[in-house]
Amino acid sequence: MSASLVTVAYIGATILFILSLGGLSNPETSRRGNLYGMVGMTIAVLATVLGPRVTTAGIPWIIGAMVVGASIGLYLARSVQMTQMPELVAFMHSLVGLAAMVVGYASYFDPTSTAGYSPAEKTIHEFEVYIGVFIGAITLSGSVIAFGKLSGKIGGKPMLLPGRHWLNLIGLLVVIWFGREFLHAETIDQGVTPLIVMTVIALLFGIHMVMAIGGADMPVVVSMLNSYSGWAAAATGFMLSNDLLIVIGALVGSSGAILSYIMCQAMNRNFISVIAGGFGGGAPAASGGAAVPAGEVVSISAVETADLLRDAKSVVIVPGYGMAVAQAQHTVNEITKYLRAKGVNVRFGIHPVAGRMPGHMNVLLAEAKVPYDIVMEMDEINDDFPNTDVAMVIGANDIVNPAAQEDPGSPIAGMPVLEVWKAKTSIVMKRSMASGYAGVDNPLFYKENNRMLFGDAKKMLDEVLAALKG
Ligand code: NDP
Repeated sequence: MSASLVTVAYIGATILFILSLGGLSNPETSRRGNLYGMVGMTIAVLATVLGPRVTTAGIPWIIGAMVVGASIGLYLARSVQMTQMPELVAFMHSLVGLAAMVVGYASYFDPTSTAGYSPAEKTIHEFEVYIGVFIGAITLSGSVIAFGKLSGKIGGKPMLLPGRHWLNLIGLLVVIWFGREFLHAETIDQGVTPLIVMTVIALLFGIHMVMAIGGADMPVVVSMLNSYSGWAAAATGFMLSNDLLIVIGALVGSSGAILSYIMCQAMNRNFISVIAGGFGGGAPAASGGAAVPAGEVVSISAVETADLLRDAKSVVIVPGYGMAVAQAQHTVNEITKYLRAKGVNVRFGIHPVAGRMPGHMNVLLAEAKVPYDIVMEMDEINDDFPNTDVAMVIGANDIVNPAAQEDPGSPIAGMPVLEVWKAKTSIVMKRSMASGYAGVDNPLFYKENNRMLFGDAKKMLDEVLAALKG
C-alpha cells in the first residue's frame, strides 16, 4: 500500500472515529457509533500493517501478536461480568500507558528512529520520548491502582501522606531537572539514567495521585485516566510520527477531559481539588445535625411493594450499582411494561455517577430494552419527586443520600443527589443496612416515608412482579 493511500485511509478512519464519538453521545445512536468505531479501527490497523513502514518480515510477528491479543480480548469480552466492566476499563487504560512507556524506551534505544534527523529534530524527538514515557508511566500506575480500588482489592479510603502536595511538587521539579539532563545527554548511555529516574517518579506519582482520592470521587479518576490514556496514545503517535495516532489520542484525551469536567459538575467538585486528593474518604460526619441516622427503619414485603406500585399514578425508578450486581434490569423492564400497560406513569431517574462507570445504568437499561424516552437524567427528574407516588430505589445508595444536602460535614456534602425522599413513599431495595461505595451512612433509610425491601434486587423484583401479576 502506497504512502498516499495510507494517508487517505487514515483520513477515512479519523472521520469514522469522530462519527463514532458523536454516535456514542446518545443511547439511540450508540450502536451505530460503535459500528463506526469498529470499521474505523479495522481500516486504521489494515492501513498501518499494509503500509510502507512495515516490512514483509515484520508481518508474521504482527499477525502473531494480533492473534494472541484478539484471543485475550475475545475471552475477556465474553467472560467479564457487567459488574466488572469498570475494572476492565481501568485495566485497558493501564495497557495504553504501558504501550506509551515501552514505545518511548524502544524509540530512544533504536538508532534508526532518529536516522537522518538534524540536531533540532533529534532534540524534539527526545522531548517527545520524555513526555510520552512520563504520561505513559502515570497512566499505567494510576490505572493499576484504580483497577484495585474499583475491584475492591484496595480500600476506598484516601491515603493522605503528610506534606503530600510538597512531595508532588518536589517530584515534579526533579522530573524537570532530569528532563534537562536527558535532553543534554551526548550518548544513549548518558540519557538512560535520567529516563529511568523520571519513570520511577512518574510511576510513584500515578500511585500517589489515585491512592489520595477517596471512594466517592473515583468517577472523576476513571474519566481522568481515560483522558490520560488518550494523551499517552497521542504521545506515542508523536514518537512514531503517526498522524492517525496523534489525532485519535487527542480525540480520546479531550473527550476524557470533557467527561471529567461533567463528572466534577455532577459531583459539585472542583477538578483541581479532586486531583489534589483527600475527598470522599468516609470521614465521620462532623455535625450532629439532622443528617445523622436516627430512628428505626420500616421494612416492607414484596407483596406490599406490589400493592403500592399498583395504586400509584406516578412511579420513578432509581437504579444503582446493586441493580448491576443483581442483574435485575430485565425484571425491572418487565415490571415497567406491566405498570405502563395499567396506565401508571413510570420513569427512570439516572444519576451521572450511578454504578461504577459513566453511563453504567444507561447501558444496563438499554440492554433490557427499557424505552429511552422514559429514562431521565437527574436534573430532568429531580423537581418531579414531590408529585411522585412511589420512588423505587434499586440497589442505589450514595446517589440518593440526603446527607449530601443536609450534613455539611459529610464526605459527600455538596454532591447533587436524586431527592427520592420527596416522593409520597420511597422504597429502598438492598440486602442489608451496609453503606455504599463512599462508605457513608444514609439517613434516607430512617425517613418516615421510607420503606426498606431487604434482599437481592433480582429475587425481590421477581417476587414483586409475581405479586403484581397474581
Ligand atoms: P452505591 O455503591 O452507593 O450503593 C450500591 C448499593 O447496592 C449498596 O449499598 C448495596 O447494599 C446494594 N447492593 C449490592 N448488591 C446488591 C444486590 N445484589 N441486590 C440489592 N442491592 C445490592 O451505588 P450507587 O449507584 O448509589 O452510587 C455509585 C457510587 O459509586 C458513588 O459513590 C460513586 O461516586 C461511586 N463510583 C462511581 C463510578 C462511576 O463512574 N459511575 C466509578 C467509581 C465509583 P447491600 O450491600 O446492603 O445490598
